[in-house]
Amino acid sequence: MVFVDLIIPVPLPNLFTYFVLEDQEDQLKIGKRVVVKFGKSKYYTAIIRKIHSIPPVEYQAKAIDFVLDDYPIVTNTQLMLWDWMKTYYMCSPGEIMNAALPSGFKLVSETKVLLNDLEVPDLSKLTDQEYLVSEALQIQPILSLDDISNILGVKKIHGIIKSLLEKNVIVLEEEVKERYTPKLESFVSIDLANYKSESDLLEAFQLLKSAPKQEDLLMKILGVSKLIIEEFKVKKSKFLKDSNSSTSALQGLVKKGILKIEEVEVGRLGSYNGIVKELPVLSEDQEGAYQFIKSNFIEKDVVLLHGVTGSGKTEVYIQLIQDAIDRGEQILYLLPEIALTTQIIVRLQKIFGDSVGVYHSKFNLNERVELWQNLIKGKASKYKVILGARSSLFLPFQNLGLVIVDEEHENTFKQFDPAPRYHGRDLAIVLAKMSQAKVLLGSATPSVESFFNANTGKYGFVELKKRFSGVQLPEVQCGDLKEDKKKKKMVSLFTPLLKLQIDEALLQKEQIILFQNRRGFAPMLECFTCGHVQQCKRCDVSLTYHKYANMLRCHYCGYVEQIQIACAACGSVETDLKGFGTEKIEEEVKSVFPNAKVGRMDLDTTRGKNAYQKLIGQFEDREIDILVGTQMLTKGLDFDNVSLVGILNADQMLFYPDFRAFERAYQLMAQVSGRAGRQKKRGKVVIQSHNPHHSTIQDVMSNDYLNMYNTEILNRRNFHYPPFYRLISLTFRHRDKNLLDACSESYASNLKTGIGEERVLGPEYPGIARINNFYNKKILIKVEKELSITAIKNSIQHWINIYRKDPSFKSVRIIVDVDPQ
Ligand code: ADP
Ligand code: ZN
Ligand code: ZN
Repeated sequence: MVFVDLIIPVPLPNLFTYFVLEDQEDQLKIGKRVVVKFGKSKYYTAIIRKIHSIPPVEYQAKAIDFVLDDYPIVTNTQLMLWDWMKTYYMCSPGEIMNAALPSGFKLVSETKVLLNDLEVPDLSKLTDQEYLVSEALQIQPILSLDDISNILGVKKIHGIIKSLLEKNVIVLEEEVKERYTPKLESFVSIDLANYKSESDLLEAFQLLKSAPKQEDLLMKILGVSKLIIEEFKVKKSKFLKDSNSSTSALQGLVKKGILKIEEVEVGRLGSYNGIVKELPVLSEDQEGAYQFIKSNFIEKDVVLLHGVTGSGKTEVYIQLIQDAIDRGEQILYLLPEIALTTQIIVRLQKIFGDSVGVYHSKFNLNERVELWQNLIKGKASKYKVILGARSSLFLPFQNLGLVIVDEEHENTFKQFDPAPRYHGRDLAIVLAKMSQAKVLLGSATPSVESFFNANTGKYGFVELKKRFSGVQLPEVQCGDLKEDKKKKKMVSLFTPLLKLQIDEALLQKEQIILFQNRRGFAPMLECFTCGHVQQCKRCDVSLTYHKYANMLRCHYCGYVEQIQIACAACGSVETDLKGFGTEKIEEEVKSVFPNAKVGRMDLDTTRGKNAYQKLIGQFEDREIDILVGTQMLTKGLDFDNVSLVGILNADQMLFYPDFRAFERAYQLMAQVSGRAGRQKKRGKVVIQSHNPHHSTIQDVMSNDYLNMYNTEILNRRNFHYPPFYRLISLTFRHRDKNLLDACSESYASNLKTGIGEERVLGPEYPGIARINNFYNKKILIKVEKELSITAIKNSIQHWINIYRKDPSFKSVRIIVDVDPQ
C-alpha cells in the first residue's frame, strides 16, 4: 500500500499520513497538492511532503480524495526551507504553508444545501422562514448558506438550517471549490470554419444585403491593412470601440458564422511598455564598490554594503542584477515595505523591462497565483528579477543566483503575527545558502547584528561614503524642547528653530518632510513642565509606566518604583502621558502654516492598493509642500526638492523601552535626514528633543554611525543581548489574570531548572499588559551564541507540550517568538 505524509494548513505540529488508491499512485509527486478530508467533514488542500509504505501507528489512515496538480507547485528547495523554518522558528508545517502559499492555491470547502428527495416533508410544520427556504430550493435545487442568508435577509441562519435538517426537508453537502479563477476575456476573430480566405469573406457580403450595419462592420475589418485572416484576433471591447459599431451588428455577424467570439484566458499581471534604457554608468566610487562586492562574493556568501543615503546603492545593485541575468540566474530583490516597491519598480523596469515581476500582499490572490505559476516554469518563466516584500521569499525560484536585501536594518522584515514569526533578512540568507546563491545586504544604517558579522569577517564588507550627486550630507541641528518650553517660545509643536526653517523652505518653494515616529504612544510618564522621564537607577533606560499596577518598572533589570507625585527633576506635579501622533501634527501644521499644502502619510492614509503611489506621486509633483508622516517615509524614497526634514520629537524614540531603542532611534533619524537635499543643494535637518546632548542625537548630528555602533556593541555584550546572545520570547495569554500568573510562574520555574536560571527572565507583564481583554505575560530566554540552541529549544518545546496538555492550564495560549525584534 502507498502512503503519503501531508502538510495540512492547520496549526498542528505533525504531518498527517493518508493512503492512496491504486489508480492515483502514478499521479503522486512530492510538492503536488491533494484534497483530503480532515476533521469531521472539512476539506483541505494539502501538500505531499513524503511518499512511502509505512502505515501510521496511532491512527487509521484515511484515503486522499484526489490529486489536484499535474506537476508539483512547490519545489524541493522550498520544502527544505519550510523544514528549516519549522525547527528554527518553532512553528508548525501548516502555519508555514499558510504563510508561503498564496491563498489562491487553497481550495475552500463550501456547504451546499439541497432538498432531501428521499423524504416527503410535512410542509405544514414549517415556520414561514423555513417554508421560504424550501420554496427557493424548488426553484434552484442547490443553494449556498450565503444564498439562503440573502433570501431570508438575515445573517444568522444556523437555527433555521438545523431545524430544516431535523424536519428532513434538506440535506447538506460539502462542495470543494478552487479559489483561483483564471481571467477570461472575449476576443473577436473570423470564423475560420466557414471563411478561410479573403475571397471567401468577399462572398459573405451576399449575406449582408439587408443588414447595412453588419456590412459596414465587415468592410471596416477588411479595410485593416495587411489583414491576415488566420491572425485576426481582437479584444471584443477594443473591437467595438475601434470599429465604432454596436454589439448587435457584431452579434449579427456571429450568427451568420462570419465572426466568432471566444473566451480566452489572459494574465492579470500587467506588462511594461515603456522604453528600456542602458545600464547607468557608475561613478568611480560605485565602480570600486561593485568590483569589491564581486571579489568578496568569491569567498563570502553574504556581503554588507554600507552606503550613505543617496550614495547610489541601487545603481550598484542594478549592475549586479545584470551580471546575474547574464549568467542565466534569477534575482530576488527584497524590500522591507510595499511602500518602497513603487519607486524601485520604475527604476528596475526602465532597465530590465518586462523581466521584472512584483510580489507582495497588496496583490490579490489571483495575481499572486499567476506569478507563482509563471515562476514554476523555471527557464521558461519571463521573470528574471522579482521585487517584493518578505513573502516573496516563498516563491518557487528554480535558479536563484542573487538575493538583495535592501534596507536590511528594517525591523519590518520581521513577521510579528501570525506564526511563522520569521525575519525576512535572516530567511533570505538561509534560502540563498540552500540555493547556492549570494546575498547582498544594503543599508545606510546597518543593523548592529549585520555590522558585527561584517566586522568579525563572517560577511564581506563594502562602503560607499559619498553621495552620488556630490552634495554633502545634510546639516543637522537640534531644537531644545526643554529650553523653548521653559521660555515659552514654542509655536504649537514647533521650536523657533524648526518654525524658522519651515518658513524659509516654504519661501524658497522647497518641500518639507515632518517626521513623527509611529510608535507615538509609549507608556512613559513625562513631566509636563520640564520633559523629565524617570530613569532606572541601575540602567540607562527610561522606566515604563505600568498603568495597571500604577508603578514604574525597568524592562532590563526588573527594577520597580512607585510613581512620585512631584517630578523628581523640577518638582512640578503636572505629568503627561507621552505621545502626539501624525494626525495632530497635520492639524497643527495647517493652523501654523495656513498657506502650505499639507499631506499625511501613515498607516491610516495608505490603505488602498494605490494609496502610497498616489501620495508619493503628489509629493513628487509638488502638489504637497509639507508631508507629515511616520517611519513609512524614512525609507529609500528619493525626492529631489526636499530641503528640510523636521523630527518633531526624538525622545519618544530614544526612550522607548527596548534594548534596541538607541540603535533604532539612530537609524530612523539618520534615514529620515537622508531624505533632505539629495540632488542639488545641501539639505537641513532639525531634530527636536528635550535631551539635545544625548549621545545618539550627537551621533546623528555628526553622522557617526561607527560611534553609535561601538557604544551599542559594548552594551549588548555587557547586558547579554544580540549579537552575543540569542533571544527567544514566550508570551502567555489568557483572560484570567490569576490563571495566567500561575501558569507562567510554574512554566518559568520548570524551564529555569531545565536550562539554567540565569537564562530565563520573567515572567513579567509588558508595558501594555492587557490587549482586547487578554492579559499577556512574557518570559525572555537568553542563550549564549556559542551554546547549542537545539537543546534549549527542545526543552522549551517539551514544557510547552506539557502545559498544553495540562487540564488546568491548557487554555493558556503560549506564543513563541525566536529572535524577537
Ligand atoms: P541610495 O539607495 O544609496 O540612497 P540611490 O540609489 O537612490 O541612493 O541614488 C540616489 C540618486 O542618485 C538617485 O536619484 C539615482 O538615480 C542617482 N544616481 C546614483 N548613482 C547614479 C549613477 N551611477 N548614474 C546616474 N544616477 C545615479
Ligand atoms: Zn519636571
Ligand atoms: Zn534597569
